Amino acid sequence: MAGPLPFSHTWPYDVLMKELYFSECPYCGESNIQMPNGRKKLSRAREGLRTELHMPCCNATLSALAADDDYFWADEPLR
Ligand SMILES: [Zn+2]
Repeated sequence: MAGPLPFSHTWPYDVLMKELYFSECPYCGESNIQMPNGRKKLSRAREGLRTELHMPCCNATLSALAADDDYFWADEPLR
């Protein structure tokens, strides 16, 4: 990660039954979204590689710069 990103750029995720979920979409507000290929994308982001997450609910794209144990860190404010 290039430098500390503000908390406004974070979005929390959950992993349940080996699938990646967002409890809410930052773009359209849809709840309990299962992300296609989410675990693979999480692994990439956790290595600090820019990763695009395509929201199945509204087709928005979350561009993640990194991820930690709880959050994706986006290149834009999400909250
Ligand atoms: Zn959405």
